[in-house]
Amino acid sequence: MSSPVLEIRNLCVDYGVGATAVRAVRDVDLTLHRGQVLGLAGESGSGKSTLAYGLTRLLPPPGVVTGGQVIYHPPAGVPVDVLAMTPAQLRRFRWAETAVVFQGAMNSLNPVHRISTQLLDVLKAHRPTSTAVGRRERAREVLRLVGIPADRLDAYPHQLSGGMRQRVMIAMALLLEPQLVIMDEPTTALDVVMQRQILGELAQLRQRLEFAVLFITHDLSLLVEFSDHIAIMYGGRVVEQAASDRLYQQALHPYTEGLLQSFPALRGPRRTLTGIPGSPPDLRAMPTGCAFHPRCPYALDVCRSRLPPLGRPADSHAGRTVACWLHPTAEPATGTRP
Ligand code: ATP
Ligand code: SF4
Repeated sequence: MSSPVLEIRNLCVDYGVGATAVRAVRDVDLTLHRGQVLGLAGESGSGKSTLAYGLTRLLPPPGVVTGGQVIYHPPAGVPVDVLAMTPAQLRRFRWAETAVVFQGAMNSLNPVHRISTQLLDVLKAHRPTSTAVGRRERAREVLRLVGIPADRLDAYPHQLSGGMRQRVMIAMALLLEPQLVIMDEPTTALDVVMQRQILGELAQLRQRLEFAVLFITHDLSLLVEFSDHIAIMYGGRVVEQAASDRLYQQALHPYTEGLLQSFPALRGPRRTLTGIPGSPPDLRAMPTGCAFHPRCPYALDVCRSRLPPLGRPADSHAGRTVACWLHPTAEPATGTRP
């Protein structure tokens, strides 16, 4: 496996403080490797976006990171904890090392400025010693990378389609050759054909340019297609993590199984879609034990009283973790506190 770019250790994020605080991310452990796509899936409210905002320190109040570490491994140099970075370190990390494409990003382009102005401003701010000619050439190059003809550089956003605007946002994310690109529902506003086209191109680009991608979506079928690894979140916790093909072939956690049964099979015979009964937990009144037990068809007595630890099941491959009493773990992960 390639070297790690980012290690998230025991990350906890709350909204608010004191007795009324809502814990939206609970002891999350994840590792992103160079050149890999790590998919993060889960129903709405499971904590995916909070995790992304928390690890980049972009969390708006009342969100607050209450514990953990986010260790960034630069290509050369010493690993550094993002949560302890100085403002200057953080500014460089946020765009030059890590780029973020958030939900609805295509509407983030300033409508009164040409695409060229918006791309060149980023280059001017982060590469102050570059020449005007060099900056323009780099802007043309990234547009070509995302499939937009370079002669559209001087277009205004309204002169581009939704798909092209989203590609511009991805181009902007790649402008400074980041080590890590975080994409939160980057293509949900687009039609499915455009979605798959853009994601397919992005998957090829990260192989060529070797950046890692944290790809967040509630659409598990997209992740199975475009991710190397998938982590499933429920009630703010990671409950299962595995290589995409293994997860698709055999989900170990009943919640993952329910998510997979909520969309049509990618291959093989047709199957009945069953979905998951009930609703996601209320974070202010989490069920005791396993948070999924009120909805789980396999719940045991122990599930109602004890939180299952996240770890590698005894009979499973390295790199696979699950938090479920049906799969006793041989190696508990460090992040799960009862
Ligand atoms: P979606 O797919 O809908 O974006 P998500 O998995 O990304 O969902 P988050 O947006 O991270 O989930 O939200 C996680 C939890 O945090 C939700 O239960 C939400 O109610 C809660 N939450 C989010 N923002 C706030 C806030 N400003 N104040 C209080 N609770 C919040
Ligand atoms: Fe279901 Fe129990 Fe596993 Fe939770 S721990 S998913 S309730 S079987």
